[in-house]
Amino acid sequence: MSARYSDIEPYTPGEQPQNRKYIKLNTNESPFPPAPSVIEAIKGESGSLNLYPDPECKELCKTIADYAGVSPENVFVGNGSDEVLAFSFLAFCDKDKGACYPDISYGFYSVYADLCCIDGKAVPLTNDYRVEPSDYFNAGRTIYIANPNAPTGMSLTLDEIRNILDNNRENVVVIDEAYVDFGGTTAVPLVSEYDNLLVVRTFSKSRNLAGARLGFGIAGKEIIQDLNTMKFSFNPYNADRLSLVAGKAAIEDEAYFRQCVDTVIKNREYTAESLKKAGFFVLPSDANFIFAKKEGVSGESLYKTLREAGILVRHFNKPRIDDFIRITIGTKEQMDALIEVLERI
Ligand SMILES: *Cc1c(COP(=O)(O)O)cnc(C)c1O
Repeated sequence: MSARYSDIEPYTPGEQPQNRKYIKLNTNESPFPPAPSVIEAIKGESGSLNLYPDPECKELCKTIADYAGVSPENVFVGNGSDEVLAFSFLAFCDKDKGACYPDISYGFYSVYADLCCIDGKAVPLTNDYRVEPSDYFNAGRTIYIANPNAPTGMSLTLDEIRNILDNNRENVVVIDEAYVDFGGTTAVPLVSEYDNLLVVRTFSKSRNLAGARLGFGIAGKEIIQDLNTMKFSFNPYNADRLSLVAGKAAIEDEAYFRQCVDTVIKNREYTAESLKKAGFFVLPSDANFIFAKKEGVSGESLYKTLREAGILVRHFNKPRIDDFIRITIGTKEQMDALIEVLERI
């Protein structure tokens, strides 16, 4: 290992058990399979796997652009939104321009900062777990904010994001909208006004395609060009043929998408209410998960009790949030199984 990485602490993904069958509520995947049209599209494309995919991802960029109301030159496709984020760290952070992000947020931001050997500053959430916009004014750094935030599920309004952008004209502001379809407000309409805004989205959560590894960025064309420079210096064929057609078909089946998202939202409200009745504290969530704790019981013990009952959730062994568990919203049946265990605690 080269000296500059001898201390690096890699990201720890949630468990992906390959043997025992758990009710999997730990990595914010969709409980629903991809739409039938997506599966058909993948089958139709598989005979062409002898050929490299389109390195410019033109078809998918166009589909996303039409959907988002921007032009294809405003769209960048990544191998998961993780890759879009990684390229943004490479492109927009430097020795004299580090990054900043909330202290309680997506764990990968600090890992990418370390990987790029740049300074990453963790900005504390407020005592009530909010992102305070003024804490990011004139940051002098590239700003990363997940909106809705993870693992809290809480979101900023569009005005608050605008406020952050107005006070950072010299810095790139990255809004990570992995969960926006479940109740947040997208910042995409601001892209035409702010050339320092990059909105990052994923097919992994609301579009039932975590296994396809597909994400995208929407921004002004300079930012998109810079991301492409990073990509063509690293892995020009970053999205494979099957994922490219899957993504296109997933966007085109709006009815299936809406039905899945609406079901998750309904199940989230049901689960939150049930847990509150059982004496839990539950943060308000605009995402496909809830963040909950119970007075007098450690997060670790909640996690272990559920695990023994065959249910996986996520616990973060981290100051301020180690009492909480993050519960991905699944089907009604999965949530009933979870509620039954938690009611007994
Ligand atoms: C899940 C998640 C991602 C990564 O998504 P992929 O597209 O699967 O790489 C990025 N940001 C946040 C906040 C997430 O929760």
